[in-house]
This record gives sequence, structure tokens and C-alpha cells, in this order.
Amino acid sequence: MRKQIAAANWKMNLTIEQGIKLTDDLLSENIELQDHQEVIFGVPFPYLISIKEKIKSYKNYFVAAQNCYFQKAGAYTGEVSAEMLTSVATDYVIIGHSERREYFNENHQMLAEKINLCFENDLKPIFCCGEPLSIREANEQNGYVENQLKESLFHLTDKQLTGFVIAYEPIWAIGTGKTASSAQAQEMHAHIRNVMAAKYNNEVAESISILYGGSVKANNAKEIFGEKDVDGGLVGGASLNAAEFATIIKSLKTISR
Ligand code: PEP
Repeated sequence: MRKQIAAANWKMNLTIEQGIKLTDDLLSENIELQDHQEVIFGVPFPYLISIKEKIKSYKNYFVAAQNCYFQKAGAYTGEVSAEMLTSVATDYVIIGHSERREYFNENHQMLAEKINLCFENDLKPIFCCGEPLSIREANEQNGYVENQLKESLFHLTDKQLTGFVIAYEPIWAIGTGKTASSAQAQEMHAHIRNVMAAKYNNEVAESISILYGGSVKANNAKEIFGEKDVDGGLVGGASLNAAEFATIIKSLKTISR
């Protein structure tokens, strides 16, 4: 089975004490992950070292940065490079979250460059895509998302895209309490996989984990993650509560033994 992933996005929330407590509470649930399952903590930059230290002895638990800069190094006061993230043992980097595209004017080209820097530094990108409400209402979401994939991913090789992680996050569902129906999620995830199969091939497309993001909660995760092309979720608000996130992790597809 493809990797099934529950990824937390803490965004700009929690002090380090609160973040450590949340991580400890979650780990104390002792959720044993199967080989194909992963849990990722997307934490603020200053917490990466501490949270990595907490999770490093747990199988298939990883940390993600929520961003990196699109230049290698230099006079970019306040920015954090991919190389720096690798040097503190970061595993994944969330790239192109809609909040960054909107508030920090991140464009397709910058995101493509960030992804290249991730690969150069052995970091795994989690590439976010998804349409705003106006595009959904005009029923133009398929073309919109296809263009996001084309502009930021189509320069990559088959090898780089094998096992790659994409998060489909309809902007109208992020932090709004409004979730895409499981049917809407499945429809877009299948579309994303088809787009990747058409540009690359079936093998590459089938290997890509496509996460759903947008108001995933303990009470809807099982239904959404149960869809054929949904390989877990990128979770904001609900990842700030250990019990709720634990239920979300337990909603990932399992392989019966
Ligand atoms: C997110 O931050 O990527 C997200 C999906 O947030 P929420 O789960 O709160 O909608």
C-alpha cells in the first residue's frame, strides 16, 4: 500500500512548553504505526530540534518544517534555508500552503525552486495545492489544481516523484469547519492522480501519497481517509488536541495482519 500519512500543521500556535506537552500526550497514546503509516509533526522552526528529539525513537514518526526559503543561502534576513533544516534533522517540509501563497505571495516558480532545494538537501516536500471558493463555485477546480501541479512539479523526474507527497487542501475548507465531502475529496484526488499518470506514468502516479486537508476532525477522518485515493490528511486545528489527533491517526487505512 502507498504511504498513509497523518500530518499535523501547528501553524503559528503553541509555546514550546505547550508543544512538548502536546507531543508527550500524543506519544503516551502508544499508537503503533504499521510499516506503511507515518505521523508527521509540522512545527514552528524553533521547535524542530526539541520535537525531533522527542519522537526520534518512535517508528515512522517524523518532523516537518512549515516552509523553507527559495534561495540556497545568503543575505535574506529572517529566512531559513533547506540546508539549515537538514542540519537540524528535519524530515519533511510543507511547501506552498495556501496561507503562504496568499499572505506571502508565494508563486509557482518559487515553490518549484523550494522543492528543488528540498531534494538537494534530502528533505521530503509535502506539496500543497487547492482551489479558492470562487473557483469551486465556477466548477473550475480541476483545471486550477492541474495548473498548480504543472507549474511547480512537472520539471521533476520520475524518480523524484516516486513516493512523493501532495496535500490537496481546498482553501474554502481550511480552518472554516467546512469539509469537502468524502466524494468531493475522492474526485479531486483521482483527478490529481490522473494528471500525474498522464504526464509521467501509472507507476509514478500510484506511488504518490495524496493527503486531504481542510477541517479534518476526529469525527470525519475515517470516512474521508477511507476513500480509495485519499492517503491520509494534513491537519491544522484538530492536530492541536492530542486525543483528537490520536483518533485521526487511528483512522488511517491499515493492512490487516
Ligand atoms: C491546514 O492548516 O493545512 C489545515 C487543513 O487546517 P484545518 O485542519 O484547521 O482546516
